Formats: sequence, structure tokens, C-alpha cells
Amino acid sequence: MTAAAPRTAIVSALHDELAGVLALMPDERRQTLAGRDFWRGHLHGQEVVAVLSGIGKVAAATTATLLIQHFGVQRIVFTGVAGGLGAGVNVGDVVLARALLQHDMDASPLFPRHEVPGYGRSRFSTDDALTDALARACERMLHALPQHLGADTLQAFGLRAPRLHQGLVLSGDRFVATTQESRVLQRELPEALAVEMEGAAFAQVCHDFRVPLAVVRTISDRADDAAHVDFPRFLRDVASRYSSGVLNMLLST
Ligand code: SAH
Repeated sequence: MTAAAPRTAIVSALHDELAGVLALMPDERRQTLAGRDFWRGHLHGQEVVAVLSGIGKVAAATTATLLIQHFGVQRIVFTGVAGGLGAGVNVGDVVLARALLQHDMDASPLFPRHEVPGYGRSRFSTDDALTDALARACERMLHALPQHLGADTLQAFGLRAPRLHQGLVLSGDRFVATTQESRVLQRELPEALAVEMEGAAFAQVCHDFRVPLAVVRTISDRADDAAHVDFPRFLRDVASRYSSGVLNMLLST
């Protein structure tokens, strides 16, 4: 661990999001470790380290471990995009994870389906206080959405009144892009709101080290046959602006 430990880690899933975070940091300095660029500096006067997660559970777990063990962060905020699974979880909505589960974990019949061997559980919780603070930041960001995105973007993606959802988020090493697969997940885990590829790995590592975690995801697709449509533009024009908006609100209060 280094001497003056940054308090908050800001983890982005996507390049566009990280660029938005770095634009808010006046003094970032790069440190490369294990092939990852970590950016230390300040955001609204608070010490932060910003980094790309890397896609998938293994890359995410390594990043989480380095943030905790090497940089000594005291809390982790993860922002990214995800596919909507729950009824009414639509493109442009925001999902805050209260718990995360690895949907591709299956050591049955030795352990119940989805249980992580050695942990006696399949669900890992996020931190209540940090998630509550993020929920307030999300509500304020969504309220001021037209200022963040502009009317053209709202119209291009058909975003009318995006909502905040909170609950179970699934992670796995698969981009879920068929209606058939999303139906299987919906049937197996009916309370799941969204599916992505990193959050549950962060949650397991944060559980091991007892570090508070919050995970916020903008819904980029419905995890169905149309899941690839307009992805790059959505990331640039919508998801990355949501993330900077939320982080700005979170760290300025
Ligand atoms: N084009 C992107 C790669 C996207 S990979 C890039 O250039 O970086 C998918 C990312 O989006 C992962 O971080 C994953 O967590 C999230 N995601 C969004 N929709 C998803 C879905 N339907 N299934 C799984 N992951 C999804």
C-alpha cells in the first residue's frame, strides 16, 4: 500500500466513461500496473484513483484486488452499462445493485446452483450507505437529464422518463445478446434486474477485504436479439454522461 491512500476508487467499464471521469480530475497522474493504467488525483477535492475495470470477471477481480491491496482505497464505486432483464427495466434506465450474483457459477451437484464454493452463498451485497448516497445522486442526475444529454440525444434513443431501479444484478463471462438466453436468466432468477460482466467479481473481492462497494449501471440494451444496436453511440452520448453526472453529484456532496 502506498503512503497517502486515495479514498475512493472510481472504476469504469468503458473507455468513454473513464474519459468523462478524467475530464473531471484536474491533476491526474498515471501509474501502470499489471497492464492497467491507474489514474490518481482529485475529484471535487477528494482523493480518487480512476481505472478501467477490464471486461469479464477475472480482469475485474484483478483490478479490484490491486485497488485495495496496492492503492489502499477505502471504497469502490463502479459505473458501467448492462443489459436489462427485469420487466420495466428499459434502455436509458439506471440500475443500482443491492446484491450481485454470478449467473454462470455452477458447481452442482457438489454445491447448489450459483453458490460460490467456500463462501456458502451465491449473493454478495453492496454497501448500504454508499449505495444510498449513490441512489440520491442518481435521482438528482435523472431529474436534470435534459441538461446532461441534450434534447437530440434524448430523442435519438427515445428516452422519456428514465427510472432508477435497485436490486439484484447478475454477472457472467458472456455478453447476453439473445432473447433465448435472457429468457433463461429471467426464468432462473426472476428478481434479477440486469446482467453485466464484472460487478459480482468486484463484490466477491470487496467481501473478502471488507471494502464498501457500490455498482451503478446504465441500461444499454435489453440483453436480447437487438442488444448490439447503437452500442458505441449509446456509450458515448448517454452512458458516459450518466456516469460523470452521477459521480459529480456523489463526490460534490
Ligand atoms: N464495446 C465495448 C465492449 C462492451 S463488452 C468496449 O469497447 O469496451 C460489454 C460490456 O457491457 C461489459 O462491461 C458488460 O458488463 C456490459 N454489458 C452491457 N450489456 C450487456 C449484456 N447484455 N450482457 C452482458 N454484459 C453487458
